Amino acid sequence: MFTITRRELNMTSTDIEKAEALRKEVRAWLDENLPEKWGTPEYVAPERLSPEAQELGTSFQKRLYDAGYTGFNVAKEYGGVERPAWETAIIREELARRGTPPGPTSIGPLMVIGTLLAWGSEEQKKRFIPKILSGEEAWCEGFSEPNAGSDLANVQTTAVRDGDEWVVNGQKCWTSAWRFAHWSLLVTKTDPNAPRHRNLSYFIFPTDTPGFSRGPLKQMSGESEFGEMFFDDMRIPHENMIGEEGRGWYVAMSTLQSERGGGVGGGAGMMGLGIRSLGGVNNLIELARNTKRYGKSFWDDKNFRHRIVQFAIENEATRNSGTRMAIAMRKRTATGNEVSIRKNSQAERRKAQGDMVMEIIGAYSQLMRGDPRAVDNGTQVYNMLRARGATIEMGTSEINRNIIAERILGLPRD
Ligand SMILES: Cc1cc2nc3c(=O)[nH]c(=O)nc-3n(C[C@H](O)[C@H](O)[C@H](O)COP(=O)(O)OP(=O)(O)OC[C@H]3O[C@@H](n4cnc5c(N)ncnc54)[C@H](O)[C@@H]3O)c2cc1C
Repeated sequence: MFTITRRELNMTSTDIEKAEALRKEVRAWLDENLPEKWGTPEYVAPERLSPEAQELGTSFQKRLYDAGYTGFNVAKEYGGVERPAWETAIIREELARRGTPPGPTSIGPLMVIGTLLAWGSEEQKKRFIPKILSGEEAWCEGFSEPNAGSDLANVQTTAVRDGDEWVVNGQKCWTSAWRFAHWSLLVTKTDPNAPRHRNLSYFIFPTDTPGFSRGPLKQMSGESEFGEMFFDDMRIPHENMIGEEGRGWYVAMSTLQSERGGGVGGGAGMMGLGIRSLGGVNNLIELARNTKRYGKSFWDDKNFRHRIVQFAIENEATRNSGTRMAIAMRKRTATGNEVSIRKNSQAERRKAQGDMVMEIIGAYSQLMRGDPRAVDNGTQVYNMLRARGATIEMGTSEINRNIIAERILGLPRD
């Protein structure tokens, strides 16, 4: 049940032995390279989003890259690792099965690579993509503003041309991975008189540029995964514009499609989704089996078991769509607006899982990390709270439903 099928991956029977050898190789590599006691109750993870967590995630990404276990779907000339689909599926499956140290390096593979492949110059692709894949350079995404979230076209941050440079003023907010990012994407208004969608330009800039500052924003999960960015006469050379002047809206749409589709080049990308979602089902089953109310475990309750089964069925449907989309991306057939289907079903699954977990743990859902009685040291509660964010980031569920309704189903706008 855990394994992506041969048919999905177009494998011949002669590949099977090689596949098993690769699976063993990856498992041995993970035993060697994961932190000591990883995956056991004794493992103490560094505080999420701390410098230690960042360091662990970054160094692990570099080792993955050096081993050839990440960087898929990107051409060799841009630092990518070219492998047959079945090999990448096995690697991703094994990485997702064990879980790997997280680090705020995901924006690069999720958004930046896809954007640069579509719009970047040769020089930009060669300069930036390898360092994203190896985890050496972390990125963030400066799109949203206080009055430009769903309505991204309404950005008020301006960039004014001055010779070979652009002078940027304004503010961005809800910027994920803001703290450790070396570079950022940026959407600005460059022509106040041009019509909507034709007035924006898209840039990249290093976060040590004079005139740039950043700070935290506190989330309901208690952390500051996202923050704010401020621009005070910050100068960007013209060569850092991605795409043409006034065409930033279209570049931004590529970024969002890349993000909603799961990006390219990452380690445990879309092919790993099945394992992660089955991990979710296993988590529910384990909690239901081990948690009693009125003397009976949740698992003994037939209705609750049915709900877990229904959850598993919907996860499987999400997994299949994810796999179909990953194969389409690999074949370079456009995925376009369909990525909104994947984005929404994944986000809604996360939320549904969090809600069911809270039902099971009941009053313990009040206890967060650090409290000795918190279930799984608060991870379950954290996951539930963070799942809300998944229905907002990358475009809210409502916005993605609008895209599905109008652009896939062809329903009228009103
Ligand atoms: C965890 C997290 C990480 C994020 N990371 C980043 C990041 O790295 N970079 C970045 O730039 N932004 C980021 N964001 C911001 C995110 O993109 C915006 O929050 C999102 O686009 C919604 O915008 P908003 O918050 O302004 O809500 P609004 O746009 O004000 O929406 C409010 C409500 O109205 C609904 N609504 C709005 N317009 C419509 C419509 N046309 N039809 C139907 N319903 C509508 C929305 O669905 C929502 O329920 C992040 C957000 C979260 C939660």
